[in-house]
Amino acid sequence: MCVGIDRRSVSPWGNPRKLRRGLRGAISGFLFFLIEKSESFCVASQRKPACTLSKALPGKIFFGGNAQYDESISSYFYIQERSRPACGVVPTSSGDVSVAIKLLAKSGSPFSVRSGGHASQPGASNSKNGVIIDLRSLKEIKLQKNGAVVSAGSGAAWGDVYGALDSRGLAVLGGRDAHVGVSGFTLGGGISFFSPQRGFACDSVTNFEIVLANGKIVEVSAISNQDLFVALKGGTNNFGVVTRFSFKTFTQGQLWGGAIVYPDSAFPKMEAAFTQTKQPKNFDLYQALEASFVYLGQSPSFLGVASLFYSKPVVNATSLKPFTSIQPQLSNSMRLSSPVQLAREVSSLSTPNLSSVWATTTFEISPTIISRLVSIWKKTARSMTQVTTTTASMTFQSIPPPPQITSPNVLGYSPFSSPQKDQVLMLLSTFFEDAAAYEDIDALTKTFFAAVDNAANEEGVDVKYTYLNYAAKWQTPLKDYGTVNWLYLAAISKKYDPTGVFQKKVGGFKI
Ligand SMILES: Cc1cc2nc3c(=O)[nH]c(=O)nc-3n(C[C@H](O)[C@H](O)[C@H](O)COP(=O)(O)OP(=O)(O)OC[C@H]3O[C@@H](n4cnc5c(N)ncnc54)[C@H](O)[C@@H]3O)c2cc1C
Repeated sequence: MCVGIDRRSVSPWGNPRKLRRGLRGAISGFLFFLIEKSESFCVASQRKPACTLSKALPGKIFFGGNAQYDESISSYFYIQERSRPACGVVPTSSGDVSVAIKLLAKSGSPFSVRSGGHASQPGASNSKNGVIIDLRSLKEIKLQKNGAVVSAGSGAAWGDVYGALDSRGLAVLGGRDAHVGVSGFTLGGGISFFSPQRGFACDSVTNFEIVLANGKIVEVSAISNQDLFVALKGGTNNFGVVTRFSFKTFTQGQLWGGAIVYPDSAFPKMEAAFTQTKQPKNFDLYQALEASFVYLGQSPSFLGVASLFYSKPVVNATSLKPFTSIQPQLSNSMRLSSPVQLAREVSSLSTPNLSSVWATTTFEISPTIISRLVSIWKKTARSMTQVTTTTASMTFQSIPPPPQITSPNVLGYSPFSSPQKDQVLMLLSTFFEDAAAYEDIDALTKTFFAAVDNAANEEGVDVKYTYLNYAAKWQTPLKDYGTVNWLYLAAISKKYDPTGVFQKKVGGFKI
């Protein structure tokens, strides 16, 4: 029996002895055996308050030592996120999430909210010795309003959503990697194949279903809890657990897309090509590209990769020619394909089960900034090798356009600005097998970003925006949305979570 807290005060079904008798009569002996088994794990895990969950949600709690626990932990994409919680909850309905949140809020136990498990910041979606709410069973996808809207359970991945829309010739402003979770991606902004034309993914949400800290399940949209609707578009896990998202769909045929790999001798041409495509006069809203300067930590040391997408079925789109014309090419997978196939290809190229440090910054394009940063990057990449063998990629892409004035988000871009035309988002992601090297690689990354920010400052092109989904733990993306938005987030948190459960007990970027 768990004695961490007085269960009478938390069990939604009252007296636990009566509950036990009721359960004996009502459920099969096998299910009761499972509950008893969970209790023995409760004892083994030092009677954490969180273990009361096994009473309230029988069969939906896992503890260390069982296969479901191991599967859940090992399914986090990166090693640094695989800490060991006391137990996990696998809700199969928003009602289950509500029961769990009420108990966890009362118990004071730390907990985490996990969907696709792709966060790179340690502790963002896992909770060492706490409780994880593993939402992956909430993955129902439904078309609504004759296909104009798709609703997705918060445990779905983008491949599930694209897959459900594909045969109807529809798409959604989703991730470029099929395995990335709908939830974390959308709540942090979300950059898609379609972003240059349609903005951040969060701006295509028409409704969130969310469980608040008091366990209430509420609908959030432009007409219901409107202030929270704005805050959820960039405010990540600070207000509750989202259990369902509804997104606008759009008609979408094939895209022309893929990746071209170049030897490092092509770096100067890639730098020039990226700088050219970022001239406002060359902006093409159908073109989405990422230019990556990749360090392999072995010979050959560096490679260039251009991930190119054109959201119309136009082979050899003119605006992508600065990249497609670069020679020599080591490989080229450009072809006409559907969003789901391209997203699956992107995920097949992403390697899980490694440690990884991510960090990001934003700046305006200048004639020299890209080549300057590539040169700083080459030195940093080599110094990382002295710590451990790494593969690392410095990637440049565009900031998506801001939302319309009538449907704001909290990301900080004015509806009258056009960052998609001249601002650059840079991501540095470093991958390595030696988990013990994490702190050293993180420190080198921090030093590198100080040099990058210094270079951007010297050129007068620095922009104070930090994309949350790419940010390192030591970065401050919510604060960097600007003081007005930051204070707004704080006020909304106070209103919907007055005791600060999601500020104090849940990991991730806090207000
Ligand atoms: C291989 C790879 C490819 C990527 N590709 C892209 C890309 O194309 N574009 C892009 O913009 N980003 C991309 N990202 C970054 C990605 O958007 C973030 O890592 C994002 O946080 C992942 O969401 P998730 O649900 O998978 O992660 P999780 O680790 O499950 O969650 C991330 C954060 O969101 C919170 N959260 C999750 N679910 C909920 C919920 N239901 N309610 C409240 N809070 C919740 C968690 O608590 C956590 O803090 C990529 C990342 C990887 C590793």
